[in-house]
Amino acid sequence: MGPVAVRAPGAPFGPWRDVASADWDDWRWQLRNRLTTTEQLARLLPLGDATKAWMASGGAFQVGITPYFASLFDQTALLAGEPAHCPLLRQVLPDSAEARIAPFERADPLGEDRHRTVPGIVHKYPDRVLLLVTDTCAAYCRYCTRARWVASGQASLDSTEIDAALQYIEGDRRIVDVLISGGDPLLWSTARLGRLVDRLADIDHLHFVRIGTRVPVFLPMRVDAALVHALRPRRIPVFVNVHINHHRELGAATGNALGRLADGGVPLGGQTVLLRGVNDDPAVLRDTFYAMLSARVRPYYLFHCDPVRGTEHLRTSVDRALAIVRQLVGHCSGMAVPKYCIDLEGGGKVPLWPDYVERVAGDALVVRGFAGEPFSYDNRSSGGA
Ligand code: SF4
Repeated sequence: MGPVAVRAPGAPFGPWRDVASADWDDWRWQLRNRLTTTEQLARLLPLGDATKAWMASGGAFQVGITPYFASLFDQTALLAGEPAHCPLLRQVLPDSAEARIAPFERADPLGEDRHRTVPGIVHKYPDRVLLLVTDTCAAYCRYCTRARWVASGQASLDSTEIDAALQYIEGDRRIVDVLISGGDPLLWSTARLGRLVDRLADIDHLHFVRIGTRVPVFLPMRVDAALVHALRPRRIPVFVNVHINHHRELGAATGNALGRLADGGVPLGGQTVLLRGVNDDPAVLRDTFYAMLSARVRPYYLFHCDPVRGTEHLRTSVDRALAIVRQLVGHCSGMAVPKYCIDLEGGGKVPLWPDYVERVAGDALVVRGFAGEPFSYDNRSSGGA
C-alpha cells in the first residue's frame, strides 16, 4: 500500500481507503482488521529499526490498533514515522524504550493479584469489588496497568466462573459497588453483558454497578442501540467510566457513541492517565476535560501512570503532575478538574492536591489563591472553639 492519503479523521484512509462504509462502521470488521503485526504497521507508517527489532523480539505487550483509531492519528507524524509527534499513536505503538525496566517498576504495580478471591474477583477495598470478565480489549495501550494479564489468552470468565463470582458478591453484604472491567467488558456479547447486569441488579445490597471501558474511543461503532439498552438503569444504575486521554480521541463517532449512552440514561465518567508526551500539559488537559464535558462525560480521575514494567518513558513525576493540576485549579471550571490520584501497591488510590496553605499565622491561615496571591483566611470556628 502507498503513502497515507489526506483524509478526514474517523473516515477510511490509507490501507483502508476503499473500504465500504458498511464495513468501516461494523465493529466486528474493525476488530478483524486491527493492526497487530510489524508488516501491518509498516503499511501505515515507516517503522524505525529499533521498533522493528523490539517487535521481532516479542515486545512487551500485545499490539492491536483498530483502523478507526488509526484514522485519528496525526498525518504528519505518520508520514515522518514519528510517534512522538502524535499523542494518540504514542499510546498504542510499541517503542523499544519499553525494554528498559526501571528498578521500581513491577508487573502487578497495584498488588491486585494478592487480592484475588475467586476467579475474576479482586477484593481490595471493603465495600466494593473489581470483576474482571475478559482479558481482551479493542486496542492495547502500552502503559496498561494489567499488561501482565490483559491479552494473555485467558479469554473470558465462563458461566461457572461468573456464577461463582456472583455467589461471592451475594455472600458479602458489605459490597455495595461492583466495577466490571478487564480487558474491556464492552467486548462481551450484548446479551451476555445484559444478563450479567440483570443478575447484579438482583443483589439487594448493591447500590450501583460501574463499567470501565475504552471502547467508545477505540471502537465507537460498538455502542449500538442494543448495547445501550443492555446498560440501561434497572433497580440500580450502571455508571460507565470511559478512559479518555486526549481531546483528539473525541472525534465525531466517539461523541455520538457517548451521546447514545447518555441519552439511554447511562451516567458517564471520565478516567484519564497522565502520560508524558501525550497529555502532560495543562493546555492539553484543559481542552481534554472541557471536550469530555461537552460530550457529557464528567472528568472523574486523573491517574498517575502506574509503574508498570517498561513504561518509564511515558511517566511524569508527581511534582510535575501537581504543578499541572495547580495550573488547572481555578483556571478552569471545577467541573473540569478531576481528582488526581496515585495508586499505592496494596494501599489503594490516594488523591494528591497542590498545597495552597502557606503558613498558619495565629488564628488565620495564609493561603495562596489560584492566581498565586496570598490571602489571610480566618480559622476560628463560629462557635469560638
Ligand atoms: S483499554 Fe484499558 S485494559 Fe485495555 S489495554 Fe488499554 S488500559 Fe489496558
